[in-house]
Amino acid sequence: MSNFSILKFGGTSVGSASRIKALYEIVTTLGKTKKLIVVCSAVSGITDMLLLASNAATHSEDEMRHHLKHIKSKQLEIINDLFNGRSRVEISKSINTLLNELEKLLMGVCYTQELSPRTSDAIAGFGEQLSCTIIAEYFKYCKTAAIYCDARKFITTDDKYGEAQVDFKVTDEKIKSFFKETNTIYVVTGFIGSTASGISTTLGRGGSDYTASIIGGALQVREIQIWTDVSGVYTADPRKVPEAFPIAKLSYIEALEMCYFGAKVIHPPTIQPALNRNIPLFIKNSMRPDDTGTFISLDSGDRSHYVKGITSIDKVHVVTLQGSGMIGVAGVAARVFGTLATHHISVILITQGSSEHNITFAIKPEVSALAKK
Ligand code: ADP
Ligand code: ASP
Ligand code: MG
Repeated sequence: MSNFSILKFGGTSVGSASRIKALYEIVTTLGKTKKLIVVCSAVSGITDMLLLASNAATHSEDEMRHHLKHIKSKQLEIINDLFNGRSRVEISKSINTLLNELEKLLMGVCYTQELSPRTSDAIAGFGEQLSCTIIAEYFKYCKTAAIYCDARKFITTDDKYGEAQVDFKVTDEKIKSFFKETNTIYVVTGFIGSTASGISTTLGRGGSDYTASIIGGALQVREIQIWTDVSGVYTADPRKVPEAFPIAKLSYIEALEMCYFGAKVIHPPTIQPALNRNIPLFIKNSMRPDDTGTFISLDSGDRSHYVKGITSIDKVHVVTLQGSGMIGVAGVAARVFGTLATHHISVILITQGSSEHNITFAIKPEVSALAKK
């Protein structure tokens, strides 16, 4: 076990100069008693804007430049609000270097009129590089020792661009030799990794939470705190159900069920590395740091309610296979799910009528044509 705690801040929690100042207060307060690794997302909306710019680049340089301008002005607005004098000049230089590199990649897409998944990932990962460069510099500007860390140095993945799979054997070793218990605060880019040959990848949308738990698992940290824009995991999506309220305690398994089935507040693969090493996860509100939030561990806590929470997912396809030939026939389910497995189709949910007349399963829309076949 190491002495580190991991704090992860999402897009809205790094979304403006005032949010970054609030982040600084949270981090430095906790930093008085803990060794910290801070994982940050891109400024909210920037990853979407990067993806819009890269898609636009395939057909219109003007449209691409419109999005790029927005990305640039957002970063510069934050810098102007956070820094003064020489420091502002220095950080502007670093940010402009990154923005020029981004522009070159986007121009490459303009020239070839082609956007490969590999280039898309390289472009999508700029948001975290920009935000974390600014945040690490801001710490130094406030006389707090901090170091910017590009996670591509230690998170090694396969080349499944858009949702790359982590090579934990290699990654865990690299993480263990990268982080040293000093008084410096590490500021780490969420969401990004790289292949063994050094090509940039991303861990899937919302993947910065996962970065925090990948590092947390490798270092066996004391705790992982996910700082977001709501006061924990709620009984339902607070945007859809205004009466929803935060759940004080969840077990890992309960949290897994909720986030795989739509509770966006935690990126689903995040739970696994914490569960494997029994590392507590806290979900906290960066706008209301004194709120209790949600504590996730082996213990599910209060059992006075039969139902912990309700979640929903919008984009799902349901397939029903039915026929009188299935009634009472053994092995039909094995054949159905065996065939799906052979074609690498994951099943989200399964039901079967007691007559065995039908089997229904839910899958992601992108695999439904193959499943139907
Ligand atoms: P971040 O940028 O901090 O990673 P996200 O937008 O990814 O934040 O996740 C937080 C959002 O998740 C909340 O603003 C909320 O709208 C949404 N959400 C959906 N379901 C739930 C739930 N059950 N509990 C809490 N938040 C939820
Ligand atoms: N910036 C990335 C996204 O918007 C990752 C994250 O925020 O977790 O998906
Ligand atoms: Mg998120």
